[in-house]
Amino acid sequence: THDSAPIVIIGTGLSGYSLAREVRKLDKNVPLLLLTADDGHSYSKPMLSTGFTKEKTPEQLSMADPGKMAEQLSLEVRTFTAVTGIDAPRHIVRIGDEELKYSKLVIAWGANIVKLDIPGSGTDKVFAINDLADYRLFRESLNEKKRILIMGAGLIGCEFANDLKIGGYDVDVVAPSDTALPSLLPTAAGESVAEGLANVGVRFHFGRVVTQVDALGKGVVATLDDGSTIETDVVISAVGLKPRTALAKNSGLQVNNGIVVNRTLETSEMDVFALGDCAEVDGQVLLYVLPLMACARALAKTLTGTPTDVSYGVMPIMTKTPACPAVVLPPRPDSEGQWLIERNGSHVKALFNDHNGSLQGFALTGDFTAEKQALSKLVPGIH
Ligand code: FAD
Repeated sequence: THDSAPIVIIGTGLSGYSLAREVRKLDKNVPLLLLTADDGHSYSKPMLSTGFTKEKTPEQLSMADPGKMAEQLSLEVRTFTAVTGIDAPRHIVRIGDEELKYSKLVIAWGANIVKLDIPGSGTDKVFAINDLADYRLFRESLNEKKRILIMGAGLIGCEFANDLKIGGYDVDVVAPSDTALPSLLPTAAGESVAEGLANVGVRFHFGRVVTQVDALGKGVVATLDDGSTIETDVVISAVGLKPRTALAKNSGLQVNNGIVVNRTLETSEMDVFALGDCAEVDGQVLLYVLPLMACARALAKTLTGTPTDVSYGVMPIMTKTPACPAVVLPPRPDSEGQWLIERNGSHVKALFNDHNGSLQGFALTGDFTAEKQALSKLVPGIH
């Protein structure tokens, strides 16, 4: 058997560390080994897009170094250790030439940032921010600079726009959509958030994409697809995230949009599990904290001997855009129905009803966000 080998968790993001914490609540002794490509610091990733308003350095965002995590949770962490392959039949993970035996393996290696292939002489000034190391590089690059162009008006683009504007920067946002948060909010609610951000001074360029970024003095000039140009110092690319699947696929695991797992978080291979940004759980990739916490609680039970399905409940998403806060409970992608919109000034309440008139989702902006709790009680959770 493989039982003397540790449970190996790949990744020390919120998924990896939350799972380790949940396992320790149930079993003080089972050996846990965490492998991570990064420095292994424990941090709350959502804080990356509030760091300028709150004036947080990368050091201040770190809640614990890997040594402290190892001590607190009595586990072993190997940092700067990138897994290069998985041999599921033999219960082995590869780190280059090294082979490590596991009893159970959990993949929690997160998502990649989508990178656009933009030409020009200024692309060294284009940054994407998906972890503490990215955040550090970005902050270092700012060094006295004041102007930022953000590509993308999704959740992360809008949050950085709000954060950097309030943090004292001059912010342009370029996005191909008609308004803000197009894949998350119905149009009226997206417009409400865009208006709130515009009111604090964020400049939106909707219906446009950046086609080239060239060096200009100490900054850059971005050319848009209509030929217009924007001079700026630094560019943030926030055009999306994709679950990391390549290594899983090469190792013979079933992948789709994410690493395919069932509701017990099991992959297509025995004793191999996945959760968090890399996982497609029962057909859904959910790149948020609440779902991964629910998965960590269920998986900890499964790993300690009680097979358990994840159950999510109702998980509204709140945008960190204080210029116009928004909260959304998206209807399931396959649900049929329509949005009913109510407005009060620039604040919007949008309810998604199915054909029977029962509430399947909602989106609230501004003052209407106060109705979040009451409405959440009326909506079925993701089952
Ligand atoms: P990650 O945190 O990406 O961790 C992946 C880990 O795997 C890392 O330790 C990495 O080093 C390691 N790794 C990768 N490849 C390998 C390898 N081959 N070998 C070994 N280790 C490897 N969600 C919300 O719910 N609310 C919010 O307000 C919110 N705000 C956000 C703001 C920003 C700016 C961003 C980027 C995301 C935000 N999210 C938010 C999403 C949320 O933060 C993520 O869903 C969550 O942090 C994902 O955690 P994870 O552990 O699955 O992945």
